[in-house]
Amino acid sequence: MNTIKSVKTRVWNWTGPTVPPQAKFCTNASDILREEGDAMQSFRFHGWLTCEIEARDGTIGIGNAALAPDLVKLAIDQYYAPLVIGADPFDYAYLWEKMYRTTHAWGRKGIGMTAISAVDIAIWDLMGKLVNKPVFKLLGGRTKEKIPVYYSKLYADNIDAMQAEAETALKQGYRAYKSRFGFGPKDGMPGVRENLVRVEALREVIGYDNDLMLECYMGWNLDYTKRMLPKLAPYEPRWLEEPVIADDIHGYAELNSMGIVPISGGEHEFTLFGFRQLLDLNAVSVIQYDTNRVGGITAAQKINALAEAYQVPVIPHAGQAHNYHLTMANANCPMSEYFPVNDVEVGNELFYYIFDGDPEAEDGFLQLDENKPGLGIEISSDHQKHFNIKE
Ligand code: MG
Repeated sequence: MNTIKSVKTRVWNWTGPTVPPQAKFCTNASDILREEGDAMQSFRFHGWLTCEIEARDGTIGIGNAALAPDLVKLAIDQYYAPLVIGADPFDYAYLWEKMYRTTHAWGRKGIGMTAISAVDIAIWDLMGKLVNKPVFKLLGGRTKEKIPVYYSKLYADNIDAMQAEAETALKQGYRAYKSRFGFGPKDGMPGVRENLVRVEALREVIGYDNDLMLECYMGWNLDYTKRMLPKLAPYEPRWLEEPVIADDIHGYAELNSMGIVPISGGEHEFTLFGFRQLLDLNAVSVIQYDTNRVGGITAAQKINALAEAYQVPVIPHAGQAHNYHLTMANANCPMSEYFPVNDVEVGNELFYYIFDGDPEAEDGFLQLDENKPGLGIEISSDHQKHFNIKE
């Protein structure tokens, strides 16, 4: 049997040139704290983890994770790798359960589940390569000719720069856009106006025939969001994303049930059980798990089935191959988030520097290659000089 021979983890810390972050490009969960200094540090991440799982015949599956990569590496090396070595990768559902239940006391959310995600994604890539099929063909196959994507950047700091960026994206053919709010509760009424001016400025550029989504990254609170929703409604946002912290599930439910603007979230939620709670409470109108945190492709596919039964669409957080394959294979995933290829700024861009083969958008869509087995990405050698790589 072609069993799993080894698991190799590497942390990729970017040491190359970066774009200096804008002062108020996005609110975040730590805005409420009184600490001075770099308020954006919880948003930026310049490190990534790769997880390479090699089968006895030398085939290598590649997984990845983007949160706290040093800790995730430790968790995989010490706890998860020994659980899968020697196993048949096609027993993926059992291996997932084994990783989940063996470390349940500490691993069911956060670092543990991120580590399980990286291993699981590597196992799916490996399975695809072993049967010479793209992962989406193992998940249900093609449900759309190509994947519509939404342009996700438009940081809040400078209105002129934001409008110019939106104009460029419009010319490139995108039909949906997501921007970030730079102001939250601590900025008072002047901040409310600053937020609204930016939404208006974006609608000015993209009009009302394109979708506009608005992102808070957990930087607001329940009271502030309740006051903002009626003010945002005239701009017809398709959704308001993560207005409050991920643990405030009842806050999400209250906001979503107001029915003024659809509320989205889930990129900081974990496993089928976490999403069952969100769906039972009608807490979100759009589900946005991130495959490399939520429990990998195995967990994501179960959440897709559950969300379909509730008729809540799934639009995974972030671009990236693992999310695209799930979106392609599920009719209930109408589009993908897409981070445009850019110089390294907050860290979302790093995927393009670490991997070759992640599809790039064209005219507002992207395509998955039927002839590339697995996830269709490989570790790139082009930018390795700009990384400090820890093995
Ligand atoms: Mg988000």
